[in-house]
Amino acid sequence: MTAERVLASISNTSDETEFYTPMPAGYKPGKTKYVGVFGTVMSGLGKGIFASSLAKVLKDKGLTVAPIKLEGYLNLDSGTLNPFRHGEVFVLDDGMECDMDLGTYERMLDQNMTRDNFSTSGQIFSAVLEKERRGGYLGRDVQMIPHVTGEVKSKLRRLAVQTDADVVFIEIGGTVGDVENAYYIEALRQLAFEEGANAACWVALTYIIQPPALGEQKSKAAQLGIKQLTQAGIQPHIIACRAINEVSKKVREKIALYSSVPFDRVFSMHDCESVYMIPEMIRRAGLDQQVVGILDLQSRLHEEAESTAIAQWDGYLNSLRNLEKEITIGVAGKYTSVRDSYASIIKALEHAGTHAGVRVNIDWLEASDVADDKAAEALKHVDGLIVPGGFGSRGVEGKIACVGHARTAGLPFLGLCLGFQLAVIEFARNVCKLPGAGSTEFDDDCENAVIDILPEQKQIEGLGGNMRLGGQDVILTADSLASRLFNRAPEIRLRFRHRYEVDPKYIDQIQAAGMLFSGKAPDYPIMQILELPPATHPYFIATQAHSELTSRPLRPDPMFLGLVKAAMARKFGDVGAAARSGSAT
Ligand code: GLN
Repeated sequence: MTAERVLASISNTSDETEFYTPMPAGYKPGKTKYVGVFGTVMSGLGKGIFASSLAKVLKDKGLTVAPIKLEGYLNLDSGTLNPFRHGEVFVLDDGMECDMDLGTYERMLDQNMTRDNFSTSGQIFSAVLEKERRGGYLGRDVQMIPHVTGEVKSKLRRLAVQTDADVVFIEIGGTVGDVENAYYIEALRQLAFEEGANAACWVALTYIIQPPALGEQKSKAAQLGIKQLTQAGIQPHIIACRAINEVSKKVREKIALYSSVPFDRVFSMHDCESVYMIPEMIRRAGLDQQVVGILDLQSRLHEEAESTAIAQWDGYLNSLRNLEKEITIGVAGKYTSVRDSYASIIKALEHAGTHAGVRVNIDWLEASDVADDKAAEALKHVDGLIVPGGFGSRGVEGKIACVGHARTAGLPFLGLCLGFQLAVIEFARNVCKLPGAGSTEFDDDCENAVIDILPEQKQIEGLGGNMRLGGQDVILTADSLASRLFNRAPEIRLRFRHRYEVDPKYIDQIQAAGMLFSGKAPDYPIMQILELPPATHPYFIATQAHSELTSRPLRPDPMFLGLVKAAMARKFGDVGAAARSGSAT
């Protein structure tokens, strides 16, 4: 049945109907197709990586794609989540704090996400409860089905309307069988029914175990996981098998037979060097054509655009595969035991290294272990230093010691957010000789609070202290290192997530001592980029922003690229002259 007919038959039902399907204004039945990616066996297998790779492959064919992550947890956003447990908090241009998978979508698709691309159970339930209070359910008892599932479907269809997408990619957090995501799965089952034939393509992401003692791949856990999905009413069209090694033909055949999925739709998504290789793996396996067939999208493709997009991506992968030289960048952080808490920094370094033609190794330095006089020792083996963002006082003195060593030893340095603030503190203490220079974040009564709470935050602090979040414009000082890195653009846009800033009353004193604030907010005296002049340091730059969040494979962040080039110059000689002059190209 066509989507129009199914939807018409549903709206023609009794007052007591279980078909609770409010359609957003402007929804065009049949226009948007839906791809859903479900996890089985275990979480953390890379649903976001698969979904974003498949979305990229379809986008390259000229289709408009819109991803959405559906999280099971009750928090309204990811702002309060501990990066130790959940990985980094990714901040979108509109200020939404969300799951790190949204970063994967932005990087893979080179497309900015918005708050509409991210949902939590907290958001869904809040919307339902608000509506209930407004009397929006007309005297009905409000139930998981049809009302909560109805809210999920509405959300997906609203995204379809807002983005005019050909394909909405839905990633369900967690694993099939979790209580938290069961209603999302039910909502998708209903959606497929309502939208009619060729509207939905379901992907089960599973895991093929290879126990070292056996040395062979075992498919039982995968079979059981897929069975659980079919029990929930979702018959997958595609099975993506995560595995350490390429999944054997025998195992793929077994999975095909047990799950009623044709063999050529059982895809081996084995470990590879970079996630950016997955789109190519998908194309090589012909999975893109399969999806186009399942969703009947043939007539919407623009194959000419595809070859240019593939050639650009291949160029990146070719460079990535042929990196001969290596440098080491130290990252002095606090969450170094969980690499996911720095996912975007790892990616931004990969992008910059690939463009500069060098493999970047990361030396994770647990800042709280670095004593004041041991920074030189801790940084002995690195060619450059990043001090990333962070909250709270643990490890701060160790990080300041590392910045101080980078400044005095001419070690290329990039500070991000907290790293920017610590560079100001170090400079205030050791160059401006301001006694007790610090931040009120760590010490309320510090003698010279060069870093203090933002004035706008002072007013809202009592209300729960939100942060300055999201994309903000940055005006660059002409002829500065920052301006040269960004190809002399007068104004750029970066992403922010902070509560503290440089207290404006210290700005003149700091600049008189030789530090330049080369990036500023347009309307307020908020310092957003600092640098030391090339005459005094080969590469010393820091930003109040999180420039790692906006780095993309084909458009690396210029400050990361500058760092990598300066580190190369330090290690190999003059290859990084361009970095010192500030050219990012
Ligand atoms: N803790 C600092 C602030 O709130 C830095 C924040 C960060 O690094 N994201 O301003």
